Amino acid sequence: MKLELLPSELTAAKPILKQINQAGFQAYFVGGCVRDIILGKPIHDVDIASSAYPEEIKKIFKKTVDTGIQHGTVMVLDHGEGYEITTFRTESTYTDFRRPDQVTFVRSLSEDLKRRDFTINAFALDEDGQVIDYFDGLNDLSNRQIRAVGLAKERFTEDALRMMRALRFAAQLDFQIEGQTLAALVELGPNLAKIAVERIRVEFEKMLQGQAAGVALQVLVEAGLLPYLPGKTGLMTEANVFKVATQLERKQPQSQQVVWALYLGQQGFDGPTLQAQLRQWKLSKEVMQAVMAVGPLLADVNQIDRWAIYEHNAHVETLLETLTIMGIDKGVTDNIQKNYDSLAIYSMKDLALSGGDLIAAGLAKPGPDLGAALKKMERAVVLGQVNNTKEALTTLVKE
Ligand code: ATP
Ligand code: MG
Repeated sequence: MKLELLPSELTAAKPILKQINQAGFQAYFVGGCVRDIILGKPIHDVDIASSAYPEEIKKIFKKTVDTGIQHGTVMVLDHGEGYEITTFRTESTYTDFRRPDQVTFVRSLSEDLKRRDFTINAFALDEDGQVIDYFDGLNDLSNRQIRAVGLAKERFTEDALRMMRALRFAAQLDFQIEGQTLAALVELGPNLAKIAVERIRVEFEKMLQGQAAGVALQVLVEAGLLPYLPGKTGLMTEANVFKVATQLERKQPQSQQVVWALYLGQQGFDGPTLQAQLRQWKLSKEVMQAVMAVGPLLADVNQIDRWAIYEHNAHVETLLETLTIMGIDKGVTDNIQKNYDSLAIYSMKDLALSGGDLIAAGLAKPGPDLGAALKKMERAVVLGQVNNTKEALTTLVKE
Protein backbone atom coordinates (compact mmCIF):
# COMPACT_ATOMS: atom_id res chain seq x y z
CA MET A 1 0.00 0.00 0.00
CA LYS A 2 1.27 3.43 -0.89
CA LEU A 3 -0.06 6.57 0.78
CA GLU A 4 -0.09 9.47 -1.66
CA LEU A 5 -1.28 12.17 0.67
CA LEU A 6 0.38 12.46 4.07
CA PRO A 7 -0.93 14.72 6.83
CA SER A 8 1.06 17.90 7.46
CA GLU A 9 2.68 16.54 10.65
CA LEU A 10 4.36 13.81 8.61
CA THR A 11 5.20 15.96 5.62
CA ALA A 12 6.99 18.29 8.01
CA ALA A 13 9.01 15.39 9.41
CA LYS A 14 9.96 13.89 6.04
CA PRO A 15 13.22 15.85 5.73
CA ILE A 16 14.37 14.11 8.92
CA LEU A 17 13.89 10.68 7.34
CA LYS A 18 15.64 11.92 4.24
CA GLN A 19 18.67 13.14 6.17
CA ILE A 20 19.00 9.83 7.98
CA ASN A 21 18.67 7.93 4.69
CA GLN A 22 21.30 10.12 3.06
CA ALA A 23 23.68 9.35 5.90
CA GLY A 24 23.35 5.71 4.91
CA PHE A 25 20.82 4.48 7.49
CA GLN A 26 17.17 3.46 7.34
CA ALA A 27 14.40 5.52 8.93
CA TYR A 28 10.63 5.02 9.06
CA PHE A 29 7.55 6.39 10.68
CA VAL A 30 6.29 3.67 13.03
CA GLY A 31 3.65 2.83 15.60
CA GLY A 32 0.30 4.49 16.21
CA CYS A 33 0.76 7.34 13.76
CA VAL A 34 0.90 5.00 10.75
CA ARG A 35 -2.20 3.15 11.96
CA ASP A 36 -4.08 6.40 12.46
CA ILE A 37 -3.14 7.80 9.05
CA ILE A 38 -4.40 4.70 7.29
CA LEU A 39 -7.61 4.96 9.28
CA GLY A 40 -7.87 8.65 8.43
CA LYS A 41 -7.80 9.63 12.09
CA PRO A 42 -5.96 12.57 13.66
CA ILE A 43 -2.48 11.59 14.86
CA HIS A 44 -1.13 12.17 18.37
CA ASP A 45 2.59 11.76 18.09
CA VAL A 46 5.04 11.12 15.29
CA ASP A 47 7.37 8.25 16.15
CA ILE A 48 10.41 7.56 14.00
CA ALA A 49 12.50 4.38 14.12
CA SER A 50 15.94 4.05 12.60
CA SER A 51 18.75 1.62 12.04
CA ALA A 52 21.16 4.33 13.21
CA TYR A 53 22.38 4.05 16.79
CA PRO A 54 21.80 7.03 19.09
CA GLU A 55 25.39 8.22 18.74
CA GLU A 56 25.03 8.06 14.95
CA ILE A 57 21.80 10.08 15.04
CA LYS A 58 23.55 12.69 17.14
CA LYS A 59 26.24 13.03 14.50
CA ILE A 60 23.68 13.57 11.72
CA PHE A 61 21.73 16.40 13.40
CA LYS A 62 22.96 19.64 14.91
CA LYS A 63 20.41 19.91 17.72
CA THR A 64 19.48 16.81 19.70
CA VAL A 65 18.37 16.03 23.23
CA ASP A 66 18.94 12.73 25.02
CA THR A 67 15.36 12.02 26.04
CA GLY A 68 15.66 8.29 26.56
CA ILE A 69 19.08 7.30 25.42
CA GLN A 70 19.17 4.05 27.47
CA HIS A 71 16.29 2.68 25.37
CA GLY A 72 17.67 4.23 22.22
CA THR A 73 15.63 7.41 21.92
CA VAL A 74 17.09 10.74 20.89
CA MET A 75 15.03 13.84 20.19
CA VAL A 76 15.94 15.83 17.11
CA LEU A 77 14.98 19.50 17.13
CA ASP A 78 13.92 20.85 13.78
CA HIS A 79 12.19 24.19 13.11
CA GLY A 80 10.96 24.34 16.69
CA GLU A 81 9.54 20.81 16.54
CA GLY A 82 10.95 17.86 18.44
CA TYR A 83 11.01 14.40 16.85
CA GLU A 84 11.79 11.28 18.83
CA ILE A 85 13.97 8.89 16.92
CA THR A 86 14.37 5.43 18.40
CA THR A 87 16.95 2.93 17.26
CA PHE A 88 15.53 -0.39 16.03
CA ARG A 89 15.63 -2.71 19.00
CA THR A 90 14.58 -6.05 20.35
CA GLU A 91 13.50 -6.80 23.87
CA SER A 92 14.40 -10.03 25.58
CA THR A 93 13.39 -12.17 28.55
CA TYR A 94 10.66 -10.57 30.57
CA THR A 95 11.20 -12.43 33.83
CA ASP A 96 8.80 -10.20 35.75
CA PHE A 97 5.99 -10.11 33.14
CA ARG A 98 6.33 -6.37 32.76
CA ARG A 99 9.66 -4.95 31.65
CA PRO A 100 12.22 -6.43 29.31
CA ASP A 101 15.41 -7.44 31.09
CA GLN A 102 17.43 -6.25 28.18
CA VAL A 103 17.03 -3.95 25.22
CA THR A 104 19.31 -4.70 22.30
CA PHE A 105 19.84 -2.34 19.38
CA VAL A 106 19.56 -4.01 15.99
CA ARG A 107 19.90 -2.92 12.38
CA SER A 108 16.81 -4.68 11.08
CA LEU A 109 13.38 -3.10 10.79
CA SER A 110 11.58 -6.42 10.92
CA GLU A 111 13.18 -7.26 14.29
CA ASP A 112 11.92 -3.96 15.65
CA LEU A 113 8.40 -4.44 14.32
CA LYS A 114 8.27 -7.97 15.69
CA ARG A 115 8.49 -6.77 19.31
CA ARG A 116 5.45 -4.52 18.91
CA ASP A 117 2.16 -5.49 20.52
CA PHE A 118 -0.50 -5.68 17.80
CA THR A 119 -0.41 -6.03 14.04
CA ILE A 120 -2.14 -2.67 13.59
CA ASN A 121 0.63 -1.06 15.69
CA ALA A 122 3.41 -2.75 13.77
CA PHE A 123 3.40 -0.86 10.48
CA ALA A 124 6.27 1.19 9.17
CA LEU A 125 5.98 3.97 6.63
CA ASP A 126 8.93 5.04 4.51
CA GLU A 127 9.89 8.38 3.07
CA ASP A 128 7.96 7.68 -0.14
CA GLY A 129 4.70 6.83 1.61
CA GLN A 130 5.09 3.08 1.19
CA VAL A 131 3.49 1.10 4.01
CA ILE A 132 5.49 -1.87 5.29
CA ASP A 133 3.20 -4.50 6.72
CA TYR A 134 4.99 -7.67 7.81
CA PHE A 135 2.19 -9.07 9.96
CA ASP A 136 -0.93 -8.60 7.87
CA GLY A 137 -2.01 -5.57 9.86
CA LEU A 138 -3.77 -4.03 6.86
CA ASN A 139 -5.99 -7.05 6.72
CA ASP A 140 -6.75 -6.73 10.43
CA LEU A 141 -7.52 -3.05 9.97
CA SER A 142 -10.10 -3.84 7.34
CA ASN A 143 -11.51 -6.69 9.43
CA ARG A 144 -11.51 -4.29 12.36
CA GLN A 145 -9.66 -6.55 14.74
CA ILE A 146 -6.93 -6.40 17.36
CA ARG A 147 -4.51 -9.27 16.88
CA ALA A 148 -1.21 -9.83 18.67
CA VAL A 149 1.99 -9.92 16.65
CA GLY A 150 3.08 -13.55 16.80
CA LEU A 151 1.71 -15.83 19.51
CA ALA A 152 -0.64 -13.92 21.79
CA LYS A 153 0.13 -16.17 24.75
CA GLU A 154 3.84 -15.48 24.47
CA ARG A 155 3.33 -11.79 23.95
CA PHE A 156 1.02 -11.41 26.97
CA THR A 157 3.37 -13.50 29.08
CA GLU A 158 6.24 -11.16 28.19
CA ASP A 159 4.23 -8.08 29.10
CA ALA A 160 0.84 -8.38 30.76
CA LEU A 161 0.04 -4.73 30.14
CA ARG A 162 -0.62 -5.67 26.52
CA MET A 163 -3.91 -7.21 27.64
CA MET A 164 -5.11 -3.83 28.86
CA ARG A 165 -3.82 -2.29 25.65
CA ALA A 166 -5.82 -4.78 23.58
CA LEU A 167 -8.99 -3.65 25.37
CA ARG A 168 -7.98 0.00 25.08
CA PHE A 169 -7.50 -0.17 21.31
CA ALA A 170 -10.70 -2.20 20.92
CA ALA A 171 -12.56 0.60 22.71
CA GLN A 172 -10.87 3.48 20.91
CA LEU A 173 -11.24 2.02 17.43
CA ASP A 174 -14.45 0.04 17.96
CA PHE A 175 -12.60 -3.14 16.92
CA GLN A 176 -13.01 -6.71 18.10
CA ILE A 177 -10.27 -8.70 19.76
CA GLU A 178 -9.34 -11.60 17.50
CA GLY A 179 -10.07 -15.11 18.82
CA GLN A 180 -6.62 -16.35 19.84
CA THR A 181 -5.67 -12.99 21.25
CA LEU A 182 -8.86 -13.01 23.34
CA ALA A 183 -8.25 -16.59 24.49
CA ALA A 184 -4.77 -15.60 25.67
CA LEU A 185 -6.23 -12.66 27.52
CA VAL A 186 -8.67 -14.92 29.35
CA GLU A 187 -5.92 -17.34 30.26
CA LEU A 188 -3.29 -14.85 31.36
CA GLY A 189 -5.52 -12.26 33.08
CA PRO A 190 -4.03 -13.03 36.52
CA ASN A 191 -0.64 -11.70 35.33
CA LEU A 192 -2.17 -8.22 35.34
CA ALA A 193 -1.81 -8.21 39.11
CA LYS A 194 1.95 -7.83 38.57
CA ILE A 195 1.71 -4.66 36.52
CA ALA A 196 2.24 -1.22 38.06
CA VAL A 197 -1.06 0.47 38.88
CA GLU A 198 -0.16 3.65 37.00
CA ARG A 199 0.43 1.77 33.75
CA ILE A 200 -2.85 -0.10 34.02
CA ARG A 201 -4.64 3.09 34.88
CA VAL A 202 -3.43 4.94 31.77
CA GLU A 203 -4.76 2.19 29.48
CA PHE A 204 -7.95 1.77 31.49
CA GLU A 205 -8.77 5.48 31.30
CA LYS A 206 -8.12 5.56 27.56
CA MET A 207 -10.38 2.53 27.25
CA LEU A 208 -13.21 4.16 29.20
CA GLN A 209 -12.94 7.26 27.04
CA GLY A 210 -13.05 5.26 23.83
CA GLN A 211 -16.01 5.22 21.47
CA ALA A 212 -16.77 1.55 22.23
CA ALA A 213 -15.93 1.67 25.94
CA GLY A 214 -19.12 -0.13 26.93
CA VAL A 215 -18.36 -3.21 24.86
CA ALA A 216 -14.70 -3.26 25.93
CA LEU A 217 -15.66 -3.04 29.60
CA GLN A 218 -18.04 -5.91 29.14
CA VAL A 219 -15.34 -7.98 27.45
CA LEU A 220 -12.97 -7.14 30.31
CA VAL A 221 -15.45 -8.51 32.86
CA GLU A 222 -16.38 -11.56 30.80
CA ALA A 223 -12.69 -12.35 30.31
CA GLY A 224 -12.39 -12.49 34.10
CA LEU A 225 -9.97 -9.57 34.46
CA LEU A 226 -11.93 -7.60 37.06
CA PRO A 227 -10.32 -9.27 40.12
CA TYR A 228 -6.85 -8.36 38.82
CA LEU A 229 -7.45 -4.65 38.42
CA PRO A 230 -6.26 -2.24 41.12
CA GLY A 231 -8.64 -1.52 43.99
CA LYS A 232 -9.85 -3.75 46.76
CA THR A 233 -10.83 -7.12 45.33
CA GLY A 234 -14.52 -7.84 45.46
CA LEU A 235 -15.67 -4.28 46.10
CA MET A 236 -16.44 -3.55 42.48
CA THR A 237 -18.86 -6.28 41.50
CA GLU A 238 -19.63 -7.39 37.98
CA ALA A 239 -23.03 -5.73 38.37
CA ASN A 240 -21.35 -2.42 39.29
CA VAL A 241 -19.22 -2.58 36.19
CA PHE A 242 -21.98 -3.71 33.82
CA LYS A 243 -24.01 -0.69 34.92
CA VAL A 244 -21.16 1.61 33.84
CA ALA A 245 -20.75 -0.37 30.61
CA THR A 246 -24.40 0.20 29.73
CA GLN A 247 -24.15 3.92 30.42
CA LEU A 248 -21.05 4.20 28.26
CA GLU A 249 -22.85 2.74 25.27
CA ARG A 250 -24.33 6.16 24.73
CA LYS A 251 -21.60 8.62 25.66
CA GLN A 252 -17.87 9.23 25.98
CA PRO A 253 -16.48 10.89 29.13
CA GLN A 254 -14.45 13.97 28.24
CA SER A 255 -12.33 14.11 31.39
CA GLN A 256 -10.49 11.88 33.82
CA GLN A 257 -12.71 13.22 36.61
CA VAL A 258 -15.83 12.02 34.84
CA VAL A 259 -14.29 8.62 34.13
CA TRP A 260 -13.74 8.03 37.84
CA ALA A 261 -16.98 9.63 38.98
CA LEU A 262 -18.75 7.11 36.75
CA TYR A 263 -16.60 4.11 37.52
CA LEU A 264 -16.19 4.52 41.29
CA GLY A 265 -18.12 7.62 42.35
CA GLN A 266 -21.61 6.42 41.51
CA GLN A 267 -21.30 3.01 43.20
CA GLY A 268 -22.65 4.17 46.55
CA PHE A 269 -19.45 3.49 48.52
CA ASP A 270 -19.21 5.39 51.79
CA GLY A 271 -16.65 8.23 51.96
CA PRO A 272 -13.69 6.32 53.41
CA THR A 273 -14.25 3.35 51.09
CA LEU A 274 -14.44 5.58 48.04
CA GLN A 275 -11.29 7.38 49.10
CA ALA A 276 -9.45 4.11 49.67
CA GLN A 277 -10.46 2.88 46.21
CA LEU A 278 -9.30 6.11 44.55
CA ARG A 279 -6.00 5.83 46.42
CA GLN A 280 -5.49 2.27 45.26
CA TRP A 281 -5.84 3.42 41.67
CA LYS A 282 -3.20 6.05 42.56
CA LEU A 283 -5.24 8.93 41.25
CA SER A 284 -4.07 12.53 41.54
CA LYS A 285 -5.31 14.76 44.35
CA GLU A 286 -7.30 16.75 41.81
CA VAL A 287 -9.22 13.75 40.52
CA MET A 288 -9.74 12.40 44.03
CA GLN A 289 -11.20 15.72 45.21
CA ALA A 290 -13.60 15.89 42.30
CA VAL A 291 -14.82 12.31 42.72
CA MET A 292 -15.13 12.65 46.49
CA ALA A 293 -17.25 15.78 45.98
CA VAL A 294 -19.42 14.51 43.17
CA GLY A 295 -19.75 10.85 44.19
CA PRO A 296 -22.16 11.26 47.12
CA LEU A 297 -24.45 13.52 45.04
CA LEU A 298 -24.94 10.89 42.37
CA ALA A 299 -26.79 8.46 44.61
CA ASP A 300 -29.83 10.72 44.94
CA VAL A 301 -30.22 13.61 42.53
CA ASN A 302 -33.00 15.10 44.66
CA GLN A 303 -30.47 16.10 47.30
CA ILE A 304 -28.61 18.29 44.79
CA ASP A 305 -30.08 21.55 46.07
CA ARG A 306 -28.81 25.09 45.76
CA TRP A 307 -26.56 24.73 48.78
CA ALA A 308 -24.99 21.52 47.53
CA ILE A 309 -24.35 23.13 44.15
CA TYR A 310 -22.67 26.07 45.88
CA GLU A 311 -20.56 23.84 48.12
CA HIS A 312 -19.31 21.80 45.18
CA ASN A 313 -19.35 24.52 42.53
CA ALA A 314 -15.73 23.84 41.57
CA HIS A 315 -16.88 20.42 40.35
CA VAL A 316 -20.17 21.31 38.72
CA GLU A 317 -18.87 20.53 35.23
CA THR A 318 -17.86 17.03 36.33
CA LEU A 319 -21.20 16.60 38.06
CA LEU A 320 -23.23 17.61 35.02
CA GLU A 321 -21.31 15.49 32.56
CA THR A 322 -21.45 12.47 34.86
CA LEU A 323 -25.20 12.79 35.38
CA THR A 324 -25.74 13.13 31.64
CA ILE A 325 -23.81 9.92 30.93
CA MET A 326 -25.71 8.18 33.70
CA GLY A 327 -28.84 9.01 31.72
CA ILE A 328 -30.35 11.32 34.36
CA ASP A 329 -33.28 13.39 33.13
CA LYS A 330 -32.32 16.60 31.32
CA GLY A 331 -34.73 18.52 33.54
CA VAL A 332 -32.48 17.71 36.50
CA THR A 333 -29.22 18.77 34.84
CA ASP A 334 -30.78 21.92 33.37
CA ASN A 335 -31.95 22.84 36.84
CA ILE A 336 -28.48 22.33 38.32
CA GLN A 337 -26.99 24.48 35.56
CA LYS A 338 -29.60 27.21 36.18
CA ASN A 339 -28.93 27.18 39.91
CA TYR A 340 -25.19 27.30 39.34
CA ASP A 341 -25.42 30.19 36.87
CA SER A 342 -27.58 32.20 39.23
CA LEU A 343 -25.43 31.79 42.36
CA ALA A 344 -24.76 35.23 43.86
CA ILE A 345 -21.39 34.09 45.25
CA TYR A 346 -19.06 31.17 44.51
CA SER A 347 -17.04 31.35 47.72
CA MET A 348 -17.04 33.23 51.02
CA LYS A 349 -14.52 35.63 49.52
CA ASP A 350 -17.25 36.97 47.23
CA LEU A 351 -19.33 38.25 50.18
CA ALA A 352 -19.82 42.03 50.07
CA LEU A 353 -18.89 42.18 53.73
CA SER A 354 -15.62 40.54 54.81
CA GLY A 355 -14.50 39.28 58.20
CA GLY A 356 -12.29 42.36 58.47
CA ASP A 357 -15.28 44.62 57.75
CA LEU A 358 -17.31 42.92 60.48
CA ILE A 359 -14.58 43.43 63.07
CA ALA A 360 -13.94 47.04 62.03
CA ALA A 361 -17.64 47.83 62.31
CA GLY A 362 -17.78 46.18 65.73
CA LEU A 363 -20.31 43.63 64.45
CA ALA A 364 -18.27 40.59 65.48
CA LYS A 365 -15.25 39.68 67.60
CA PRO A 366 -12.44 37.56 66.20
CA GLY A 367 -12.98 33.87 66.95
CA PRO A 368 -16.03 31.60 66.79
CA ASP A 369 -18.33 34.63 66.83
CA LEU A 370 -16.85 35.86 63.56
CA GLY A 371 -16.99 32.40 61.99
CA ALA A 372 -20.68 32.08 62.83
CA ALA A 373 -21.47 35.52 61.37
CA LEU A 374 -19.67 34.69 58.12
CA LYS A 375 -21.49 31.35 57.85
CA LYS A 376 -24.82 33.04 58.42
CA MET A 377 -24.16 35.60 55.65
CA GLU A 378 -22.90 32.93 53.30
CA ARG A 379 -25.94 30.72 53.73
CA ALA A 380 -28.44 33.54 53.44
CA VAL A 381 -26.81 34.92 50.27
CA VAL A 382 -26.50 31.51 48.61
CA LEU A 383 -30.12 30.65 49.33
CA GLY A 384 -31.21 34.03 47.98
CA GLN A 385 -32.63 35.21 51.32
CA VAL A 386 -30.63 38.46 51.28
CA ASN A 387 -28.82 40.44 48.63
CA ASN A 388 -25.06 40.42 48.60
CA THR A 389 -24.71 44.09 49.56
CA LYS A 390 -23.02 45.78 52.52
CA GLU A 391 -26.30 47.20 53.81
CA ALA A 392 -28.33 43.99 53.57
CA LEU A 393 -25.55 41.95 55.20
CA THR A 394 -25.06 44.51 58.00
CA THR A 395 -28.77 44.31 58.79
CA LEU A 396 -28.62 40.51 58.74
CA VAL A 397 -25.66 40.30 61.15
CA LYS A 398 -27.20 42.86 63.52
CA GLU A 399 -30.36 40.74 63.86
P1 ATP B 1 -1.67 6.47 20.83
O1 ATP B 1 -2.21 7.06 19.61
O2 ATP B 1 -2.68 6.33 21.91
O3 ATP B 1 -0.40 7.12 21.33
P2 ATP B 1 0.07 4.33 20.02
O4 ATP B 1 -0.19 3.14 19.16
O5 ATP B 1 1.02 5.37 19.52
O6 ATP B 1 -1.31 4.96 20.40
P3 ATP B 1 1.79 4.16 22.31
O7 ATP B 1 1.45 3.68 23.68
O8 ATP B 1 2.13 5.59 22.13
O9 ATP B 1 0.57 3.74 21.39
O10 ATP B 1 2.99 3.25 21.78
C1 ATP B 1 3.65 3.50 20.55
C2 ATP B 1 3.97 2.19 19.85
O11 ATP B 1 4.89 1.43 20.63
C3 ATP B 1 2.76 1.26 19.66
O12 ATP B 1 2.05 1.58 18.48
C4 ATP B 1 3.43 -0.10 19.62
O13 ATP B 1 3.98 -0.35 18.35
C5 ATP B 1 4.57 0.04 20.59
N1 ATP B 1 4.22 -0.35 21.97
C6 ATP B 1 3.81 0.43 22.98
N2 ATP B 1 3.62 -0.24 24.11
C7 ATP B 1 3.94 -1.52 23.84
C8 ATP B 1 3.95 -2.73 24.59
N3 ATP B 1 3.59 -2.74 25.88
N4 ATP B 1 4.35 -3.86 23.95
C9 ATP B 1 4.72 -3.85 22.66
N5 ATP B 1 4.71 -2.76 21.90
C10 ATP B 1 4.33 -1.60 22.46
MG1 MG C 1 1.61 7.07 20.70
